[in-house]
Amino acid sequence: MSSALPSYEQAAALVAAHAAQLRAMPPQAERVPLGQASGRVLAEPLYADRDQPPFPRSTRDGFACRAAEASTHKKLALAGSIHAGEAPAGPLPPGAVWEIMTGAPVPAGADSVVMIEHVEAAGGKVRLLPPRSVKPGENIVAEGAQARKGDLLLPAGTVIGFAQVALAAACGNSTVDVFVRPRVAILATGDELVAVDASPAPGQIRNSNAPMLASLVAAAGAEPWVLPAASDTAQSLDAALAQAARADLLLISGGVSAGKFDLVEPALARAGGVFHFTGVRIQPGKPLVFGELPRNHSGANQNENATTCCFFGLPGNPVSSAVTFLLFAAPVLAALAGSRESGPRFALARLASTTDKHGKPGLTRFLPAHCDFGASAGPLPEVELVSSQGSGDIAAMARSNCFLVVPEEAHRLEAGAIVRILLA
Ligand code: AMP
Ligand code: MG
Repeated sequence: MSSALPSYEQAAALVAAHAAQLRAMPPQAERVPLGQASGRVLAEPLYADRDQPPFPRSTRDGFACRAAEASTHKKLALAGSIHAGEAPAGPLPPGAVWEIMTGAPVPAGADSVVMIEHVEAAGGKVRLLPPRSVKPGENIVAEGAQARKGDLLLPAGTVIGFAQVALAAACGNSTVDVFVRPRVAILATGDELVAVDASPAPGQIRNSNAPMLASLVAAAGAEPWVLPAASDTAQSLDAALAQAARADLLLISGGVSAGKFDLVEPALARAGGVFHFTGVRIQPGKPLVFGELPRNHSGANQNENATTCCFFGLPGNPVSSAVTFLLFAAPVLAALAGSRESGPRFALARLASTTDKHGKPGLTRFLPAHCDFGASAGPLPEVELVSSQGSGDIAAMARSNCFLVVPEEAHRLEAGAIVRILLA
């Protein structure tokens, strides 16, 4: 049965193909203040408004000079002084140096800067101390070395972080044009669920998946739209899906396994859903469902071009929901957001201790783990499984910061092995 299901790689390729189609329909743009741009996606390319640096810049406190003259170690006359913020000075007379501070424009005629620590300065004369010499270009960043006026610095689709904020600011942008965030409907299903602030009766549990998915969606630069939880009845699901199909992406949690009250797939089919896959050979998350619903255009959509709304039916166990979001929903979300980046993000790490957890054969496993990214003994960060009671163990997941990837046929991974981790 499960051999008919796609492998992780096959399902990921299918999702990536859909994400590529979505990228062809970029969302609307809006202008936001630079201070609110972090985590957003550039809708317009960023160009250099002038040369960077705009003048030859000294990277040291010291003396601007001609390298050939300074390297003779003769005493050179002090011809002037310049600090950061002053207009370019010069020209530098022959046989002279010019006192200069970090960030100041190098005077015309000088080809290098000697560091203040490397000279002897007395009585208006400066001498580079032997045996040091200086080469042309030393301690100077040439005008335009980083970028020329009009150069493309960042293409549209770049996710804005601290470095991009700095660059936009350096180019004089107090606002930036970004893509409107996709709106993601989050629909938890299950008769056992109560709201976070309700007190659960015996047999009931709090709906933790909705806030968890909202957190993942927000972290992915999208706008979460949390719907009231649906119960395990056809009527409740039909009503909720009609509402949810107005979103750019729909995440449903629960109700996709093979149980008697797993009614989500039939409800999606009644709503006109097309299924791209119904199950993947992974653990946790095997019942994952991916497809598209006809778009309900009766509400305000972010992307009016889209005629369908992609959906993921995520298995309800919290670790399953999180893993399937990271593996499959996040790449679709990135595409809907107009981002050029496509998840999920994997890294290599060294396994701290042998893991011998047998799983079902033929499934790629993603197990909650903790990776020490700080200074460690070896060249790779060290990862260790978190002890866990399975895919319902939220406490274990909360102690983890990544998921150890156990390939389909691997049951035992030796201490010291180089392994892949899925970054959260
Ligand atoms: P299901 O996928 O509906 O069969 O649910 C699998 C497990 O996940 C069950 O133990 C559910 O109680 C639990 N579960 C389902 N939905 C949620 C939710 N929204 N929050 C927390 N646990 C859930
Ligand atoms: Mg359920």
